[in-house]
Amino acid sequence: MIIDIITIFPEFFDTFINTSIVKRAINQQLVEIRLHQIRDYSHNKHRNIDDTPYGGGVGMLMTFPPFYDIIEKLRTKDSTVIYLSPQGKLFNQKKAKKLAKYNHLILLCGHYEGIDARIEALIDMELSIGDYVLTGGEIPAMIVADAVIRLIPEVIHADSSEEDSLQNGWLKFPQYTKPEIYKGHRVPEILLSGHHQNIADWRLNQQIKKTYEKRPDLIKGIHMTDEEKNILNNIKSAKEKKTAN
Ligand code: SAM
Repeated sequence: MIIDIITIFPEFFDTFINTSIVKRAINQQLVEIRLHQIRDYSHNKHRNIDDTPYGGGVGMLMTFPPFYDIIEKLRTKDSTVIYLSPQGKLFNQKKAKKLAKYNHLILLCGHYEGIDARIEALIDMELSIGDYVLTGGEIPAMIVADAVIRLIPEVIHADSSEEDSLQNGWLKFPQYTKPEIYKGHRVPEILLSGHHQNIADWRLNQQIKKTYEKRPDLIKGIHMTDEEKNILNNIKSAKEKKTAN
């Protein structure tokens, strides 16, 4: 996969591309990240890429021509152009899974008041990383790129991403490591039992319980097996009984 990132702060990405799993994925040529300084596409000698908004108003807007030119240069029939914006659809694991199958992403990082609205004619999607406003699209671009890169086959072990929270709807089960006991805080006995089926049953139970308790909003989007439905119903009735007492 190729990810082109268009920004006024390419240096923002130095640590991102030189650390951990992303660095390894780049070294293994599973992904190529190309950073582009949008000022190089400025139409004036001062390399400005912002101007005041027509109709008045506070702040500066990023101008359209530099974005038009670079998108025209980079786009192929395989490209997906994404504008990171607080006005976009919320980015989530489902969208990350979909994007991980694409060959070429072009990520546009806005700044100031954002990009001239004519950008909408050039993009394939507008993605927000949450309902708050950041100063620029660089952190959102890293978030999208990171979530997508770890889902590219061979970047991490497939079993590891398959078990991740949200990957199949549910949150991940709780995990523990050594020591077995510290200052009275114990690892659940079942995990030390060596009984694989019991451990798998406990983990599924915990996934459903955690999701119900922490993120009940996720449940309506999950296609449940009969077993999962039964577990959820049991958890719900246990909770109702507890509240009634
Ligand atoms: N004036 C814009 C508005 O009200 O919609 C906000 C502009 S924001 C200060 C500057 C840039 O940061 C945006 O163009 C976008 O690229 C990025 N940005 C800010 N919040 C974001 C979010 N929640 N998700 C994705 N990108 C965001």
